[in-house]
Amino acid sequence: MSDKYDVIVIGGGPGGYAAAIRCAQLGFKTACIEKRINKQGKPALGGTCLNVGCIPSKALLDSSWKYHEAQDKLAVHGIEVGKVKIDIAQMQKRKDEVVLQLTGGIAALFQANKVTWLQGTGKLLANKQVEFTPNGKDDTETLEAEHVILAAGSVPVNIPPVPLKDDLVVDSTGALEFDSVPKRLGVIGAGVIGLELGSVWARLGAEVIVLEAVDRFLPNVDTQISKEALKILKKQGLDIRLGARVTGSEVKGKKVTVSYTDGSGDQSETFDRLIVAVGRRPVTEDLLSQDAGVSLDERNYIYVDSQCRTDVPGVYAIGDLVRGPALAHKALEEASMVAEVIHGEHTQVNYDAIASVIYTHPEVAWVGKTEDEVKASGEAYKTGVVPFAANGRALAAAEAEGMVKFVVDEKTDRVLGMHVIGPQASELVQQGVIAMEFGATIEDLQLMVFSHPSLSETVHEAALATDYRAIHIA
Ligand code: FAD
Repeated sequence: MSDKYDVIVIGGGPGGYAAAIRCAQLGFKTACIEKRINKQGKPALGGTCLNVGCIPSKALLDSSWKYHEAQDKLAVHGIEVGKVKIDIAQMQKRKDEVVLQLTGGIAALFQANKVTWLQGTGKLLANKQVEFTPNGKDDTETLEAEHVILAAGSVPVNIPPVPLKDDLVVDSTGALEFDSVPKRLGVIGAGVIGLELGSVWARLGAEVIVLEAVDRFLPNVDTQISKEALKILKKQGLDIRLGARVTGSEVKGKKVTVSYTDGSGDQSETFDRLIVAVGRRPVTEDLLSQDAGVSLDERNYIYVDSQCRTDVPGVYAIGDLVRGPALAHKALEEASMVAEVIHGEHTQVNYDAIASVIYTHPEVAWVGKTEDEVKASGEAYKTGVVPFAANGRALAAAEAEGMVKFVVDEKTDRVLGMHVIGPQASELVQQGVIAMEFGATIEDLQLMVFSHPSLSETVHEAALATDYRAIHIA
C-alpha cells in the first residue's frame, strides 16, 4: 500500500508535533509518525519533553519546593504549619495527571488541525519514501511525501561502568518515578538534568551526592554565576564533588556502590538509589536506511544547514537530532521555521538568542555570551552586575539570593549576554532575549521605566550598572 502526503514528520515531540501542526496550518496534507507508548500503556504524543522531560521534572520540582517551603521557609513570615508530611504517591499522581493533560492536548490539536497521527515507527528510505511499522505489528507500509521532517529526538546516554538496574540505578526517566525518598541518593553528572532531579529528592529529605567528572561547575555558564550557583546549592545540602571520574559500580541487594577517582585518589560511595545523568544522544539508529542519503556530523547528529535542510533535498531534521542546544523551545522554533521554509517563506531561527534555564531554586538562566567568551574574543566590553539583595520585591518575598549580570559590547553598546541567578530567572531572562532579538543597546534598557517594586527592576539596575548609573548599589 502506498499513501502520499505533502509532509511526513517522524517523531511527535516538541519538534515533531509543532512541525506537523504548523505544516497543517499552512495547508499541507500532513502525517506525524510517533511510536511512544506511555506508562499507562497508551500511544502518546509530546515526546521526551511532555512525557519524561521538561514537564514531569518541573511538576516534581514545584511539588518538592512547596514541601521544602512549608517545612523551612514559612516560619520567617510568621506562619506555623506544624509537622509537614510528603505523600509521594500523590505527588507522582499529580505529575502523571499534568503529563496526561498536556499530551492529550497535543492529540486534540492534531485532530483540530487534521494532522494524521500514525502510531508506530518511521524509517527514512531513499527518495523521500518512509517505511511505517504500526505499533504491535511486523508488517510495514511504504509512505510517500514531498517533504520529510525528521524529529526523532534524543535518549539518555548510558555509561559502561554504571549499567542501569531496575529502579536502583536509573536514568532521568527512572528518576521521575521513585516511589519513596531514597535515604542516600547518588547522581552522576552535575548538568542541568542531574541538578534538577538531585534537587527534587534533596528537598524531600534525601542525602544527595553529585559526582561530576569535569573540574569546573557548569562550564557553559558565566563564571560569576556558576560560582554563586555552586555556593547556594552546596548550602542547600547538595554535596557536589567536581573532578570525580566514575570508574565502576557494584550492586549488592538494594544498594549500589560507585567507585570513582578524584584528586585524592580512589574513592567509593554507597547509595540507596543512583541516577545516571551524563547527557543525551540523538536517536539516529533505525531511523535511516543505508541508502537514505542523509549525512551525520562528527558527533552523530544529523547534519543540517542553518535552515535545518539535510543533504537530501526535501528532507529536514530538527530538535535534539541536530546541532545546537538540546532544548524544547529550540526544537519548537526549528519546527515552525522548517514548515515555513517548505511553504516558500524566508524564515530563520536566531540561534544567538536562545535562553537556557536550570530550574533549581533559585533558578539559573542565561542568553548570549558569557564574560569569559567575550574576553577571549578580545572585544572591548563592559559588565553590569546587581544583586537581588538590592531589590525591594525580592526582599519582601524573602527571595533575595542571586544577581543579574549584563555583558555589553563597549563600542556598539549592544547586549551580548544576560545572566541571571535568582528568583524567576527563567522569566527574567526573556527580557534579555527580547533585547537581543531587537538588537537593543544597553541604553535602550536603561531608558525604559520598570514597575516598582518588581524583580525586573534588578534587570534595569544591572543595565544601568554597566555605565555606573545604578541607584541602589554602592
Ligand atoms: P523528543 O522530545 O525526544 O521527541 C522525539 C520523539 O520521537 C519521541 O517521542 C520518540 O518516541 C519519537 N521517535 C523516535 N524515533 C522514532 C521513530 N523511528 N519513529 C517514530 N517515532 C520516533 N528542555 C527544555 O527546553 N526545558 C526543560 O526544562 C527541559 N527539561 C528536561 C528535563 C529532562 C529530565 C529531560 C530528559 C529533558 C529536558 N529537556 C528540557 C530537553 C527536552 O525534553 C528536549 O530538548 C526536547 O524534548 C527535544 O524535542 P524533540 O522533538 O527534538 O525530541
